[in-house]
Amino acid sequence: MFEYAPAPESRSIVSLAPSYGLFIDGEAGEAKDTFKTINPATEEVLTEVALAGPEDVDRAVAAARRAFQSWSALPGSERAKYLFRIARIIQERSRELAVLESLDNGKPIKESRDVDLPLVAAHFFYYAGWADKLKYAGFGPDPRPLGVAGQVIPWNFPLLMLAWKIAPALATGNTVVLKPAETTPLSALFFADVCRQADLPPGVVNIVTGAGDTGRYLVEHPDVNKVAFTGSTEVGRQIARSVAGTGKRLSLELGGKAANIVFDDAPIDQAVEGIVNGIFFNQGHVCCAGSRLLVQESIAEELLASLRRRMATLRVGDPLDKNTDIGAINSRAQLDKIVELSEIGSAEGAERWSPPCELPDRGFWFAPTIFTGVTQAHRIAREEIFGPVLSVLTFRTPAEAIEKANNTPYGLSAGIWSDKGSQILAVADKLRAGVIWANTFNKFDPTSPFGGYKESGYGREGGRHGLEAYLA
Ligand code: NAD
Repeated sequence: MFEYAPAPESRSIVSLAPSYGLFIDGEAGEAKDTFKTINPATEEVLTEVALAGPEDVDRAVAAARRAFQSWSALPGSERAKYLFRIARIIQERSRELAVLESLDNGKPIKESRDVDLPLVAAHFFYYAGWADKLKYAGFGPDPRPLGVAGQVIPWNFPLLMLAWKIAPALATGNTVVLKPAETTPLSALFFADVCRQADLPPGVVNIVTGAGDTGRYLVEHPDVNKVAFTGSTEVGRQIARSVAGTGKRLSLELGGKAANIVFDDAPIDQAVEGIVNGIFFNQGHVCCAGSRLLVQESIAEELLASLRRRMATLRVGDPLDKNTDIGAINSRAQLDKIVELSEIGSAEGAERWSPPCELPDRGFWFAPTIFTGVTQAHRIAREEIFGPVLSVLTFRTPAEAIEKANNTPYGLSAGIWSDKGSQILAVADKLRAGVIWANTFNKFDPTSPFGGYKESGYGREGGRHGLEAYLA
């Protein structure tokens, strides 16, 4: 399906065919319609991809249902072999996959190569290890798979979100129909090729590409037993409404507006690195991004001066250049949203700053940006921007930091920077966030559960909690 071209230039590591089909019942198949996927760094069309209609989703769900019979009956140790095989193939093909991910998504190659791909393989290894240990692990006397899982994922970590969903589903004996986001369908189709290479039985994994309508049809399909969705809170709400009363199990991983809280005793250099990583990693297209910096007033000036110096060293540009720190914004629509909210930030009186940086003429770009003088009334303090834009607020006391951190409809993640363990524990205890990092940020691990409170969704992925979501 994806040909390997052994050229030295990373750009030609992946050579794309003019079009790609769906992956249903182990076969590549056409659909009536197609859509184009583009390189956000150049606006060039990468290739055409099948747009799955209702009849294609029906076929995919039927294939998953047929495969469920034998897949769920396999001993866990046999399912583990397939998952280990998939993990190893991902490692072997990680250069191709990293390039493909950066081409389709716009993320810097050093992130897809050093963060996304190792984590993708780690999730398959981790859940492979669980597949034969379910019975006596406290999931109940007779843990059973739910059936066919309909999984819908966003564009910010296409392959990692796929791994978060597919690995625990398969380990527990479920079969899958997955729909990747419309702006980043390619790594999921490449993954279809990985499944074939691993000799995964047909129908265990099916990939249907398309936009929101394809996703809606999948999650509303009567023969889907479990819906797993990662994406915006708005779409998550629609899905929760449509699934209510159907008996389907649902997990939702939605948006966030995380506070990164820096106390006056924090190691400043380390905190600045954590702030930069928290908001500029993956162009800020991160649900748990540290998009609100809460800094203690007494060190605000010193910390912001240091942050500005560090931001001036960030390189924005070609995602395939291994020195790039900030790549392209994933789509024109996302860029428009970031521009709009930033303009609102200025209009509402916050002070905007970006380091001098030349952005390429073509493609979708946004310079790393901070807003100071932000108050809780500002929209940029409350709404998810999902871009490289940091809103800075100050506080005087730990109580004020906690109040401000929790003053959001979201509750996905938070960071605390302090030299005192007691302070970190006391503050963490009062934060309403599913994931809390101390003196670090954006650290991920397949063994740790991930998920949120309030409008950030419910259910947990990762760790043994990720298995519970797929077991009756
Ligand atoms: P989105 O909600 O627009 O789309 C997500 C996916 O849902 C896409 O595949 C899309 O095609 C599909 N979709 C759209 N409408 C649908 C419908 N009515 N029914 C079913 N599927 C539908 O979100 P996005 O713009 O792709 O991603 C960004 C959002 O995802 C952000 O809000 C971000 O915070 C969130 N996110 C959350 C996590 C997490 O783990 N909590 C991780 C990554 C991203």
